[in-house]
Amino acid sequence: MPATAWPSAVEADLPRLIEIRRHLHAHPELAFEEFETSKLVQRELAGLGLEVRAGLAKGTGVVAVLRGTAPGASGKDARAVALRGDMDALPIHEETGLPYASTIPGKMHACGHDAHTTMLLGAARVLSRHRDRLQGSVVFCFQPAEEGGGGGRYLVDEGALDDPACAAAFALHGFPNLPVGHVAVKPGVAQAASDSLRIKVLGVGGHGAAPHKSVDPIVLSARVIEALQGVVSREVNPVDSAVVTVGAIHGGEAGNVIPPSVEMKGTIRSLDEAVRRQVHAAVKRTVELTCAAGGGKAEVLVHDGYPVLTNDPGASRFALETARELFGAPKVHELPVPSMGGEDFAYYLQKVPGAFIRVGVATREAYPGLHHPAYDFTDAALGVGVALFCRLAERFLAEGFGEAD
Ligand SMILES: [Zn+2]
Ligand SMILES: [Zn+2]
Repeated sequence: MPATAWPSAVEADLPRLIEIRRHLHAHPELAFEEFETSKLVQRELAGLGLEVRAGLAKGTGVVAVLRGTAPGASGKDARAVALRGDMDALPIHEETGLPYASTIPGKMHACGHDAHTTMLLGAARVLSRHRDRLQGSVVFCFQPAEEGGGGGRYLVDEGALDDPACAAAFALHGFPNLPVGHVAVKPGVAQAASDSLRIKVLGVGGHGAAPHKSVDPIVLSARVIEALQGVVSREVNPVDSAVVTVGAIHGGEAGNVIPPSVEMKGTIRSLDEAVRRQVHAAVKRTVELTCAAGGGKAEVLVHDGYPVLTNDPGASRFALETARELFGAPKVHELPVPSMGGEDFAYYLQKVPGAFIRVGVATREAYPGLHHPAYDFTDAALGVGVALFCRLAERFLAEGFGEAD
């Protein structure tokens, strides 16, 4: 079987994979609650002849190892490669109107993790039939809680990449800005560090008609939000990127009462560790001093979320070449700019080189974006992902990332 035959080698599995994907889509589970999803994954893996470890990452994580049987596969120089699929859904009410739409109000696979899990299962099915082509081991990482819970960090900390020791890791993610059949990679820095921000503005409450006897936290909050706009525009080097967004603000109950405090929540994004620390410090200073200037106080909490995701240059080139070989150069794109979205696959890539690869899902112009209530990972893209996973694994185990420039 030539390398380019992988897309046809996965075809026989597609009807079953579509069934699995639609079942998962209809039964979404939130971060760290992927109990039924985890059971389904374990049921599907049973009988494939893999070594399965379940109950990881606070309970729902599953890691399965497939040992290849090609010559050299069990030698001491044999490589191992990790493939990752995330399993969690989002607290969003689905509005796709699809026959397999979420059956659980307020929960939805709006980031396509139903398909990521399915593609990883597909790769396990197909590769387990072709283990004679694998000159090493493939480690399938079914990970909980990508959407904010950092499930990837738990799996990595619990040794998912250690036994066998993985020399590379790859993950796929649906990409609504790209047509079905297309694949894209951003070499180098690809996804932002995503940190959470909580602010409590503390004033002195009182009668709405006597502001001079109060310290009005509503007015202070307005100044704080306005002042925060200067952090990125006036303090960060214009050639660097950062975002400070206040996404929630809560304070007060009545029109004629000055409340004692106001709470805000936000997110901070950056693409560089030094910029990240600079923005954190500037946000804290801006909020505290703006409140102090009006006679109030502030509590500012910045919590480090996912780190910057950096695709290894060699792994990126390898992934792009592999995709071109399978799907043809016109369908494979090197992305010029990173995304300010966060991704906890960053934890895997802090440990081993690898690449986060985008798989096109768009079937029309203006396809609904990730986390949109009308988003659906397109079934037709499943085979693309499975074939790519298979060939990435086969080729990496045989050749590594190949020649460096
Ligand atoms: Zn997401
Ligand atoms: Zn996602």
